Amino acid sequence: MTATPTAQSPTPLAEQLAARIELEGPITVGAYMQACLHDPVHGYYRKRAAIGRAGDFITAPEISQVFGELIGLWCAVVWRQMGEPGFLHLVELGPGRGTLMRDLLRAARTVPAFADALHVHLVETNASLEAEQRATLDEEDVPITWSGELDVEPAGVPTIVVGNEFLDTLPIAQWVFHAGQWCTRCIGLDAQGRLAFLNGPGDPELRPPQAIAATAREGDVFETRTPAFNFWAEKLAALDGPLAALFIDYGHNTPVFGDTLQAVRAHRYHNPLDTPGEADLTAQVDFAAAVAAMRRHSLVCDGPAPQAEFLGVLGIAARGSRLMAANPAKAGEIEAGIARLMAPGGMGTRFKALGVRSTRQAPLPGLAQVDMDEPGP
Ligand code: SAH
Repeated sequence: MTATPTAQSPTPLAEQLAARIELEGPITVGAYMQACLHDPVHGYYRKRAAIGRAGDFITAPEISQVFGELIGLWCAVVWRQMGEPGFLHLVELGPGRGTLMRDLLRAARTVPAFADALHVHLVETNASLEAEQRATLDEEDVPITWSGELDVEPAGVPTIVVGNEFLDTLPIAQWVFHAGQWCTRCIGLDAQGRLAFLNGPGDPELRPPQAIAATAREGDVFETRTPAFNFWAEKLAALDGPLAALFIDYGHNTPVFGDTLQAVRAHRYHNPLDTPGEADLTAQVDFAAAVAAMRRHSLVCDGPAPQAEFLGVLGIAARGSRLMAANPAKAGEIEAGIARLMAPGGMGTRFKALGVRSTRQAPLPGLAQVDMDEPGP
């Protein structure tokens, strides 16, 4: 076993994890991510409200109100495709500060029958973010409920689900190619008792997708999120009614090798082992693996489309112009925000929109079909 030491300040969670590792042995990257994000006392998503300019990282809805508004219009079009039901569950997974939902509902009000049909459910595990969401959405005149799980009632009803930067927070497993074999990448302790990455024993059960398996070289890392994708695909399928879901996240369309686990704190990247529980921890989304999980649960996928293409089809240019005309003093800021969301090589292409739907639902707007027959594991 080889360990890579890092410089870290012993956060309370680092000490707790070190004690656990001493007792139980090394833990997987997935168990580490789960603890860092969701430990009941020290987990990042349990205690910190870290999104926005003053926080640790910034997301599309915090960059421009146009983002949430366009998603609101997308939802209204989907509702029309569903036959304009008088009762619709609108679920947001990981709603952050509630900004996307606020902007979405503003746009929804331009289609009154759609707004009237809405029953909003926010799925959130972070108590401080839930409090922010409640404050942000205080004045809204649609019914809104909160839960830590996707458990809407009644089931079997038309449902739209949205999740921006939600999939990237789900725990990953990492495998390392070492001495001709794949090993689970773990976190143990180095000689000084600090958290350190190490390779578990070779495991013939670990197999990356065929498309890339033969190209593996010593030290290559493969990341997989299949258990988490299966979990959420099962939850979506269990809603058991007409379903349309939209996931927007950063990631890749075909399987690749690479260690993408990243910790972000105060808008800067840190070593993921440095400050467990005090930095946001995410990893790229393998969209092929997400699609494969959805298909296993009899759901159909549209896209993924690059964010710029998706927002372009939804009319970001026209909406931006109208907003600038109405707020000339803020025109520069509005334009800069939209440019950031659309940037080629930046958010416009690194982020992608994936549609997921029940079989009888029409193809989802703005998301061309992409042939992804090479699923992840
Ligand atoms: N969608 C927001 C926030 C993205 S950050 C935005 O775009 O600004 C990720 C969000 O997912 C946070 O609100 C976090 O608390 C929440 N989250 C992470 N894992 C979760 C889980 N398993 N269940 C519910 N919410 C979760």
